[in-house]
Amino acid sequence: MRKIGEWIVIEKGEVIPMTLAMSTLIYQVKHFSEERYRSYLCSGLSCSYCQRKAPKRIRFQVEVMIDGQHLRWEFSEEVFNTISRLKTVDGLLNITVSRYSAGRKTRYQIRQEQLSIPAVNRFTTGKYGHMVRR
Ligand SMILES: [Zn+2]
Repeated sequence: MRKIGEWIVIEKGEVIPMTLAMSTLIYQVKHFSEERYRSYLCSGLSCSYCQRKAPKRIRFQVEVMIDGQHLRWEFSEEVFNTISRLKTVDGLLNITVSRYSAGRKTRYQIRQEQLSIPAVNRFTTGKYGHMVRR
């Protein structure tokens, strides 16, 4: 994983566990320039890219926590569609993101992970030192 400031870039072949703070989720409409290989924000009605009928895409951004560090991740509508079907706990979503292939063929696999619950919430010790399931 690379970092550009607070933004993360997941590299091809990587598997990254992270916690998403779903209340921070926003989206932006962007145009992708093939020549310059970068995105430009769509400015709405007077947008010069829209006037040239440049393709648009929605990009989502969210705050994530990885190894205790607060970072930001930008992702596609496809990833959003997967994530939005998952169940959050107190606004948090624990996932593992795997990236396959690169460039415009990039695909991500999203797997939901359980939020870690302190052991005391799951088990307690009985009179004889044995584990009692609640
Ligand atoms: Zn535009």
